Amino acid sequence: MKPFYIDYPQEKIAEHQHAYRCLHCKIPTTIIFGLLENHAKDCAYRIHQGRWTQLEASLKPIQKHFDEPHIDEVD
Ligand SMILES: [Zn+2]
Repeated sequence: MKPFYIDYPQEKIAEHQHAYRCLHCKIPTTIIFGLLENHAKDCAYRIHQGRWTQLEASLKPIQKHFDEPHIDEVD
């Protein structure tokens, strides 16, 4: 899973000089802040990315890797 989602299509907000928003759900990038869950629930980008995230999760075998350092008890 990607930590940040910044590759969504963006468009300039006409009223603001240096502001952009998601092309699909029209939520400003400053509010989305790279997080998928900050898009609208019906945002096409969010739905698409969400599907891929689920697919990736189902394809990857869950590997629990425990590298427990051996701690000598000095107590
Ligand atoms: Zn969106």
